[in-house]
Amino acid sequence: MGKKSTHKFKAEINQLLEILVHSLYTNKEIFLRELVSNASDALDKYRFKTQTGDMEADDTPLEIRISHDKEAGTLTVTDTGVGMTREEVRENIGTIAHSGTAQLTKLASEGKESLDTLIGRFGVGFYSVYMVADEVTLVTRSADPEAAPVEWTSDGRNDYKIRELDEDVARGTNITLKLKEDLVSQFANTEHLKHVVKKHSNFVNFPIFVEDERVNTVPALWREPKFQVKPEQYKEFYTFLTNDDTDPLDKIHVSVDAPVQYNALVFIPAIDDDMFGLGTQDNRGLDLYVRRVLIQHKNKDLLPEYLGFCKGVVDTEDLPLNISRETLQDNVLIRKISSNLTKQVYSALEKMAENDKEKYETFWRVHGKLFRAGYMDFIHKDRFVELLRFNSSACENADELISLADYAGRLKEGQKEIFYAYGPSREALSLSPHLEIFRKKGVEVLYLYEPIDEFVMDALQQYGDYQLVPAEHADLSGIEGEQEVEDKPEELSEPEQSTLDGLLGHIKTLLGDAVTDVRTTDRLSDSPACLANPDGAMTSSMDKVMRHIQKDTSIPAKVMEINPDHPLTRNLIRIYEADAQDPFVEQAARQLYESALLLEGYLQDPHALVGRIQSLLTQASGWYKK
Ligand code: ADP
Ligand code: MG
Repeated sequence: MGKKSTHKFKAEINQLLEILVHSLYTNKEIFLRELVSNASDALDKYRFKTQTGDMEADDTPLEIRISHDKEAGTLTVTDTGVGMTREEVRENIGTIAHSGTAQLTKLASEGKESLDTLIGRFGVGFYSVYMVADEVTLVTRSADPEAAPVEWTSDGRNDYKIRELDEDVARGTNITLKLKEDLVSQFANTEHLKHVVKKHSNFVNFPIFVEDERVNTVPALWREPKFQVKPEQYKEFYTFLTNDDTDPLDKIHVSVDAPVQYNALVFIPAIDDDMFGLGTQDNRGLDLYVRRVLIQHKNKDLLPEYLGFCKGVVDTEDLPLNISRETLQDNVLIRKISSNLTKQVYSALEKMAENDKEKYETFWRVHGKLFRAGYMDFIHKDRFVELLRFNSSACENADELISLADYAGRLKEGQKEIFYAYGPSREALSLSPHLEIFRKKGVEVLYLYEPIDEFVMDALQQYGDYQLVPAEHADLSGIEGEQEVEDKPEELSEPEQSTLDGLLGHIKTLLGDAVTDVRTTDRLSDSPACLANPDGAMTSSMDKVMRHIQKDTSIPAKVMEINPDHPLTRNLIRIYEADAQDPFVEQAARQLYESALLLEGYLQDPHALVGRIQSLLTQASGWYKK
């Protein structure tokens, strides 16, 4: 008998086990899906090793067997895959392998997401057996001929035992569950087991037997001619691949012969993989097969990163079966497939946008954030721009979306540019002083709510013949307004104009280095003043992103723009004319400056501003005194 040792589970595993053991979750059958999926992975690994010449293949059939013993209350899952050495058992079953597990435990214990959703979306793997079993025994022999067979046992509470076995054991892994008493009749039942396997594991690439009867029947669906595949088969396959029960938005099922041979079945899910905000890239990628043999799970090179929402399978005849995973990365063939498949995804999205607007908008809302990163893919730029969607000032509400083509189709007389502005919300943008002139002239502005949108616009530069221009840098003098001039006050007389010039200089002196310049603008109507970026500088929002990245918390010096027609400005001209040193001028100048900072999101300390407002209110109310 080999040495026997007892080990404590890592703390995160203990927490996860605690949740699983006591789970009231009713859909417990998914433990079988997890065991079969591990068995299938182990078989894939073994096949891969023999194909790359790492290992001599023997004639043990590659398969998965499930059996039960009602008397003993046990259920057994056996595979003839790679197995594990003692070290591997400790590493794989004693520590957390799945990067999402710690997060899952956290989310599950917070109770915000039901265990139901979490297990379905993550696949908690091996430990899910403790939803149905009081004790689990795993016996495994590695395909490595030097390694001794190992037995691992645990009741899923605190610790596990490992020992080496002396007796001869077949290659692969055998897992026996001592079922919880109330679950014996449910799971020690051939018909039910067959049902569960068919439901969750029908597409597994190796034969699965339940009590000696072959259960899974479905061949490689992606190799089937399209017209022979039923919609429910597609759906079943999608759920098998992703554990997602919702209907995907679309599927791309192609058989391509030139310039490279491949079959692909790729889905566009209706939900975001990263719905729990884990920021994990783990789930991205397509499964790569060579002549129906799985070469790599979640290969990241078959599609560009920004199409990472796609899930599915690619199978090619053109790669050698014994290709090593390392050489896949800069493989010319993979690149050719990727380039072809990318076009297929574009076609699918274009068709969706054209034929089913609502569905395309769902796509945009769910995956738009990732998809937008496609602005860096210059090869597909022309197709990419047509697929962008925006909210705009011409939309009825924040949910409405338009394309650049929509915008370009309704330009104003004399308008040669497409304008955009970034802001935190539709409300904020529709009040922004920078956009007053646009509102006045009825010129449409695209509303950008995500910082990445500005990078997109900046990189694209133009759409067709139209420049993409940030609204704050816009010159609208060439565009006819709809309701201009309406309540414009009288033009300033020449002496008034020169007083104004003096006033502007005075304000600049008062504000010092806080502003680079003080000047008039004709872009404002309802506001007396705003802050603009010095000419040629980046937009204020882009500037803000850059400052955030550089952890720069200083307040940028900007140009203070004054609306010469605003009643406040007109009053200030009179006051300044009467007494250039009147303290009200300074009060007003500082107040305008800080109010503008506040609107731009730069004001850090509101004390001075609030104090000034109070003193102004006091003065103003004094006015009403008898
Ligand atoms: P995951 O499958 O996501 O890695 P699991 O908890 O399901 O997480 O499994 C943990 C690890 O244990 C696997 O990655 C694998 O290395 C190992 N393992 C589990 N079952 C088997 C098996 N039947 N044969 C060989 N290795 C296995
Ligand atoms: Mg697993």
